[in-house]
Amino acid sequence: MFEFKVTGKLAGRGRTGVFTTPHGDVHTPVFMPVGTHASVKSVNPADLVKIKAQIILANNYHLFLRPGSDIIAKMGGLHSFMNWDKPILTDSGGFQVWSLKGNTSPDGVEFRSHLDGSLNFLSPEIAIDSEVKLGADIIMAFDQCTKDTATVDEARTAVELTQNWLLRSIKEWKKHDPEKQALFGIIQGALHENIRREATQFVVDQDTPGIALGGETIGFNMAGTKQVVDWIADLLPENKPRYTMGLGLRPSDVLTAITLGIDMFDCVAPTRLARNGALYTGKVVIKNAVGAQHGAPEYHFESEYSNERINIGNKQFETDAKPIDSDCDCDTCQHFTRAYLHHLFRTKELLYYSLASVHNLRMMIKTIEDAIALSSK
Ligand SMILES: [Zn+2]
Repeated sequence: MFEFKVTGKLAGRGRTGVFTTPHGDVHTPVFMPVGTHASVKSVNPADLVKIKAQIILANNYHLFLRPGSDIIAKMGGLHSFMNWDKPILTDSGGFQVWSLKGNTSPDGVEFRSHLDGSLNFLSPEIAIDSEVKLGADIIMAFDQCTKDTATVDEARTAVELTQNWLLRSIKEWKKHDPEKQALFGIIQGALHENIRREATQFVVDQDTPGIALGGETIGFNMAGTKQVVDWIADLLPENKPRYTMGLGLRPSDVLTAITLGIDMFDCVAPTRLARNGALYTGKVVIKNAVGAQHGAPEYHFESEYSNERINIGNKQFETDAKPIDSDCDCDTCQHFTRAYLHHLFRTKELLYYSLASVHNLRMMIKTIEDAIALSSK
């Protein structure tokens, strides 16, 4: 069922591809909106279809605690529960229990729920069992995250645990239906070349349907992310999708990742920033396009604003009759002015959150579409 085919070339090591899943094909590179509680905050699934979202992400940790994986299974699984019939990816909860500073043992992680402080436990077996109940097309192995600044010893300890947990995750996954759900292994190793390379070879050797790069570094420290991908690039098989977990703070970050040969990305930033009044604006340009005499082609995201976004709450937008971004084709930019969004944001009108989130997500998705279109010119 799960097959990845490279279909073309983009700038740098970039490539286009198609990943086949039980809920349809995913054309890569792809940005995946995050729907933590089985909902992309304030965005109706019908609007996700309109902005050409192909696949969304949901969080096993949150759904495991509330409403509980059994309830979602009883309601026919995530796709049916949230009325989204396209592909879904679930993370394992490894990152969240690490963030909560849970008590880690070789067996798993004991942690206190962020909801009520109750003690809970996740292990590779429990996490995968929950992900099976949720029924996403792509499920992530249970792993141990490391911070960007992890020492060699810390990184090695986390990688050894992650490798052991990957083998246990695979064993549990194979007890169910690997034709219905693809398991991705995760490479940890912080900012240590040898450990990242060893971790990569280990994941590649397990032959999981996809390969993910994890750790606080990824997406959070873009120079570090580029360094890590450069270290391991020669070890990554061509025919497996590559996923950088938590990458996509700015449109330019996604362009960087595409150039590094990454196929999949997700980040809460576009919707979180939107809710806080930060709205992306700018456009993709390609320098040294195919046929140019000097230099390799490179994507750039050109924006007249710092961090590639405007702060819609600023007074300067009070009477601005332009859309957020004049090249954006989202419903928000087609029908509403900056002045109106400024007003909605200042008055905390609920409509603001959906209009703003739709725009920022569309900008991420359109950035990829534009990079692909520019590369074929
Ligand atoms: Zn827009």
